[in-house]
Amino acid sequence: MTNRFQNYSIRQIHNGIKNEEFTSEEYVSYIIDRIEKKDEKINAFITVDKEKALENAKNIDKKIRDKEKIGILAGVVMGIKDNISTIDLKTTCASLMLSDYYPPYDATVVKRLKENGVIIIGKLNMDEFGMGSTTEYSIIGPTKNPWNLDYVAGGSSGGSAASVASGECTASLGSDTGGSVRCPASFCSVVGLKPTYGLVSRYGLVSYANSLEQIGPVGRSVSDVSTLLKIISGYDEKDNTTISSDYTEYDDLDLKETDQIISDLNKNKPFKIGLLQDLTNKADKEVSQYVYRSIDLLKENHLECDETDINSTEYALPSYYTIASAEASSNLARYDNIRYGFELNPEGYEWNSYYSDSRSRFGSEVKRRIFVGTYVLSSGYYGKYYMKAQKAKSMIKHELKTLFQEYDILVLPTVPILPFKIGEKIDDPLKMYLTDIYTVIANLAGIPAISLPVGFSGGLPVGIQLMADEFKEKNLLAVSTILERMVNIKKYADVF
Ligand code: GLN
Repeated sequence: MTNRFQNYSIRQIHNGIKNEEFTSEEYVSYIIDRIEKKDEKINAFITVDKEKALENAKNIDKKIRDKEKIGILAGVVMGIKDNISTIDLKTTCASLMLSDYYPPYDATVVKRLKENGVIIIGKLNMDEFGMGSTTEYSIIGPTKNPWNLDYVAGGSSGGSAASVASGECTASLGSDTGGSVRCPASFCSVVGLKPTYGLVSRYGLVSYANSLEQIGPVGRSVSDVSTLLKIISGYDEKDNTTISSDYTEYDDLDLKETDQIISDLNKNKPFKIGLLQDLTNKADKEVSQYVYRSIDLLKENHLECDETDINSTEYALPSYYTIASAEASSNLARYDNIRYGFELNPEGYEWNSYYSDSRSRFGSEVKRRIFVGTYVLSSGYYGKYYMKAQKAKSMIKHELKTLFQEYDILVLPTVPILPFKIGEKIDDPLKMYLTDIYTVIANLAGIPAISLPVGFSGGLPVGIQLMADEFKEKNLLAVSTILERMVNIKKYADVF
């Protein structure tokens, strides 16, 4: 039986509550019921905060009854990836190291969501510290794909994508260091955006590789993702990499006719879309055929599309894993159980074993990254690996900058393969890393990229990726809106 709240968008929730068609408490109760029914199978949540969510909902309902002003996101129920700090709500990074950590403050993004009336329902599963592509490396075990429970949900923000796809929350936040929002969005048939580096504050995000990562919204529509981006983006005095500008003004694209959106795009000069042909052709056929179909749909809408390529992409994956591991080894050095970490009674320990016992609490993938990162930063190898990776990063950034002088949007698959079975790649790190081959490009270049659901193959979702030049989120969201209308794909998994 379908529930009337099923698949409600942010706008529908806001209007419904504001116009007293239903109460915030009713909606939250529906979500809680949904989590209770679904999450045993999906495993998207590490922590669920029912009491607080209900309390917040009742407060919103009271405000409405008292005719007080409510935020534009009032009553929207969101899950937050468990590496984004939430005051007094456990934030574990899916790691034994932080299994009992209650942050004393909210991340800026969380603060902004709360100020606008969002109700946080809980914290979402992920690969430990964001390292992984499947959400299998977690202390609570893998998040399952809501379209087929034998398959991975993608990662590292698997909980963020699976919870939205299975209707366990309205929308969520993930973090994307090398694809962690886009890969699970693609695998779970939802929309996921990695913003331009510096558009969204990272204050309160537990660092993995801070020169590459951004917090990004996940939702069941482009419109929901744009609404959230508008709220979480912009200058933050607590993160001096954030920009102060009006890049964060997005129109209400969902209220515009497609023709209007297209004419706005073509306003100053003919808008041009480039298909990254070589990368698309190298993907599995089930995936590439959807990319070609999407290009046809855009052409049908009189958008100019032609084929192009990036030459330096072969360096993307090795340079990403070199830089990400180097930063991880440095960022994670603080978890030594002296400054940060779980509590281990020092009695009876001598220094070395106390330190190594503490550090051994990291999972195998995190340890692997720390080893690799320490190695590529060591004095004998720094020039050979780390410096080289930085050079490759600059080369990729430069090539993309040049390409964006000609093209407004570049199109390619999000992930070159379909979702795979749980356990299939867990013992082969290199195969696992290859999952990220098309997503790391945007992180190295610092540009925005979105994953949109475009179809299913054998019951498993397929996603397409669009990239734009720095701070051109507006264009990215506009083209995504058009494509979304054309493909009209299912984003709500009610399979189990
Ligand atoms: N899979 C990539 C990694 O393990 C990306 C992770 C992420 O974006 N947080 O590094």
